[in-house]
Amino acid sequence: MESRFDAVIVGAGFGGIGAAIQLNRLGYERILIVDREDDLGGTWHVNRYPGLTVDVPSTTFSYWFEPNPNWSRMYAPGAELKTYAEHVADKYDVRQFMRFNTTVEGARWDSDAEVWRVALDDGETLTASFLVAATGFLCQPCMPEIAGLDTFEGRIIHTAKWDGDYSFHGRRTAVIGTGSTAVQVVPELAKEASELTVYQRTPIWVMPKFDFGFSPAVRRLFARVPLAQRILRWFTDTGMDLMMVLAMWKFRRFRALNVAAERVSQALRFLSIRDEELRRKLNPDYDFGCKRPTLSNSYYRTLAEPHVHLETAGIERVEGDGIVTRDGRKNLVDTLVLATGFDVWEANLPAIEVIGREGRNLGKWWRENGFQAYQGISVPYFPNFLTMASPFAWVGLSWFNTVEYQMRHMDRLLGELQRRNAQIFEVSEQANSRFFDRMTELLDDSVFHLGTCATSRSYWFSPSGQAPLFRPTSVRNAVEEQHRFPLSDYTFTRS
Ligand code: NAP
Repeated sequence: MESRFDAVIVGAGFGGIGAAIQLNRLGYERILIVDREDDLGGTWHVNRYPGLTVDVPSTTFSYWFEPNPNWSRMYAPGAELKTYAEHVADKYDVRQFMRFNTTVEGARWDSDAEVWRVALDDGETLTASFLVAATGFLCQPCMPEIAGLDTFEGRIIHTAKWDGDYSFHGRRTAVIGTGSTAVQVVPELAKEASELTVYQRTPIWVMPKFDFGFSPAVRRLFARVPLAQRILRWFTDTGMDLMMVLAMWKFRRFRALNVAAERVSQALRFLSIRDEELRRKLNPDYDFGCKRPTLSNSYYRTLAEPHVHLETAGIERVEGDGIVTRDGRKNLVDTLVLATGFDVWEANLPAIEVIGREGRNLGKWWRENGFQAYQGISVPYFPNFLTMASPFAWVGLSWFNTVEYQMRHMDRLLGELQRRNAQIFEVSEQANSRFFDRMTELLDDSVFHLGTCATSRSYWFSPSGQAPLFRPTSVRNAVEEQHRFPLSDYTFTRS
């Protein structure tokens, strides 16, 4: 069975929704968005753990072209992001393109027919002129390799597969992991669990969260006078962009900023926790910026509560009824929460097998030649292919920064394709190499190269120690370049 589309987009999160809106604006109507989940929203559909909020100001965490006056707070709860995704999909009429519970096995460029053949797990093959991988960076839940985990007789819940009906009331609960997710879920679990033990391998830098609610009057103002929200957004956008550029990409010159951030985190710890030993255990030994820092006003305070314990001895094994640490102690546990994050590399870059021209396998090529993508979106030997969660694509801290600069790239690239009455685009190897070299050089000044990051265990580093996820420029630069990248960086061919 075969169906022919202008574009197949893999993923119905904010990336896939943005790509569909852009393609539709360019006049493409036969679009199919496939997603393995049962509804749209990506991360914000899948993650439902208690305490989930954005950790980027909501004013910045939204499409520029679709401000949302309905955020209840500066850092909106996760459910509001899901509602926003539904609103955007409906308003821009892209829900009609979506097919759920559909898993893509892989895609192959058919050089003879000059189309993508996209294989689904039910045996169907889709045919499309364009293929867009909008599969996200954080979508393959990571199950930790801990001896005996499968022998645990209580309940195991990964935060990305939350069971909202399960009650933690009175349960001896253990949380493994202390990343952004754990920092949000731990204070919530502590409200219910009888005992809560947090297993920390690597401490995280926690910053104060300047959060506040938007009153109904403010929300009405945002709805009636969008400029009011735009002004607030200007501050949050500029603040986030400056922070990233100075603390991460210009670390060589502005290292003092990172040190200042560390002092702020230490002050928060000092104000929240009286126990000096506990404070010491929570102090990261790597530079601020090596690993995603997080925001919370309650995490440290929660760890100071009498029924909450921080365990740093390291996990030796899990047994049927508890966890044994390396020093031989055993902690009895009813429920085990895995806040162990996502496989960003092995199973995710790329998330599906993609075979381009002359049989080039994207995952294999990235691993042999370094993770790279021209402007974080296109790859030589992969005609008519756009990849959204790709090397050097992540710019700023808001995922919308990436999606929107990529939408602009699509606009210029596909607009030119149409003007030339051509059907196939492909980025040249020279343009890709030039971009790769420039990004690699920019990283020389970054915290990733100059900071003390060795002990951070940051997923921002690939298994081989490179840091190619981020585009080490400002958001402004990423956006501006999409309006003026040389069109000669691409070849445009008529079928
Ligand atoms: P994460 O940052 O990768 O943290 C995973 C945690 O699990 C780490 O503390 C890790 O320890 C620990 N861990 C993994 N395997 C382990 C093992 N075998 N034994 C002991 N500990 C183990 O994952 P996350 O907290 O889910 O956050 C991922 C990303 O999602 C964040 O960086 C952020 O970008 C995003 N996020 C965003 C929001 C938001 O916007 N609201 C909220 C949550 C998450 P090590 O550090 O020692 O490896």
